[in-house]
Amino acid sequence: MVKVSERVEKIPPYLFAEIDKKIAAAKEKGVDIISLGIGDPDKPTIQSVVDEMHKAIDNPKNHDYPPYAGTDEFREAATKWMKKRFNVELDAKTEMICNIGSKEAIAHVFFAFVDAGDYTLIPDPGYPVYKTATIFAGGNPYSMPLLEENNFLPDFDKIPEDIAKKSKIMFLNYPNNPTGAVCDLDFFKKAVDFCKKYDILLCHDQAYCEMTYDGYKAHSIFEVEGAKDIAIEFFSHSKSYNMTGWRVGFVCGNEKYLKALGTIKSNIDSGTFKAIQQAAAVAFDAPKEQIENLTKMYQERRDVMEAGLRELGWNIKTSKATFYLWLKVPQGFTSEEFATILLEKAGIVVPPGNGYGKYGEGYFRIALTQEVPTLKKAIERMKNAGISYNMTK
Ligand SMILES: *Cc1c(COP(=O)(O)O)cnc(C)c1O
Repeated sequence: MVKVSERVEKIPPYLFAEIDKKIAAAKEKGVDIISLGIGDPDKPTIQSVVDEMHKAIDNPKNHDYPPYAGTDEFREAATKWMKKRFNVELDAKTEMICNIGSKEAIAHVFFAFVDAGDYTLIPDPGYPVYKTATIFAGGNPYSMPLLEENNFLPDFDKIPEDIAKKSKIMFLNYPNNPTGAVCDLDFFKKAVDFCKKYDILLCHDQAYCEMTYDGYKAHSIFEVEGAKDIAIEFFSHSKSYNMTGWRVGFVCGNEKYLKALGTIKSNIDSGTFKAIQQAAAVAFDAPKEQIENLTKMYQERRDVMEAGLRELGWNIKTSKATFYLWLKVPQGFTSEEFATILLEKAGIVVPPGNGYGKYGEGYFRIALTQEVPTLKKAIERMKNAGISYNMTK
């Protein structure tokens, strides 16, 4: 038996693996499962992208290795979109690269900047890759707690000076997974100032910028003046255009920092299939109504779910973004205990909050990736099973 590397041994068991085991056991007992677990859109990719893909795949010019940083056409389309959407000026040749889905580029950026013993500043709760990639690179992840009393924004003043000095990367993600929180430009300005003061690469994960409600518009970090000196931003087609399986997005911003990421990437991957880049470029010109229809759909689901949960005693602020609801578990229960009750008594699958970090303990997440009737059924089942915010052990 070959011993696996220490870096693999250090990684905690994958959150959804434990859940899968419990689902399998419940199914065996004949429980009908409603999954509100995974953040994966339930609708097909927007049509214009699928249509373009049919054309792109028939073109033999698309069949060879793609250029490392992405095709000129993709990078120009992405650059134009950043200008149209955020009024941010970027150079398509030096400040824009295509990725194989954000997860790839997020994981690789740690290898480009983190040496053994370096620190990274990561949101807790947060997307698990920030932490695991830090560990893979030999670094130490430092949790910035996202607390409800701070509207799930990190408090930079609480970061100890010696940690800040040893930190190479800070990750932010607004609109936020898993909390659904949003931020304003003032907050981004504080982050830019902090990272400039301590020479920290500010990485902004933009996975949900197109999934916002009630008139709220998400910001790019580059709307802050001078942010490009210190920041890069990760955009993903996955959630915005229902393209999780396509594996495409972009990273943009500071030229020097993108170059370092490019050195890692060009030695590990060879880019996204050119046909996918051609189709993904079309997404940036998707008819406005298509995107609006998607957000309307999630907004309706949010309203149904929030109304149902309020009836069951949850005190919730209406979510302005993402397709997640981040909710407190009833008093006296751990996140794991409550997730298990939802599964065993109501057949509902949710990830426990502690799966996203220790400050996620006491919460659970609901993904609005089911149709309204299914969401209503979930609420009905909770009611019938006596599950409410005020339940006791
Ligand atoms: C889904 C998600 C990603 C990854 O998106 P891909 O482009 O599909 O790799 C990155 N960050 C956050 C916060 C996400 O929720």
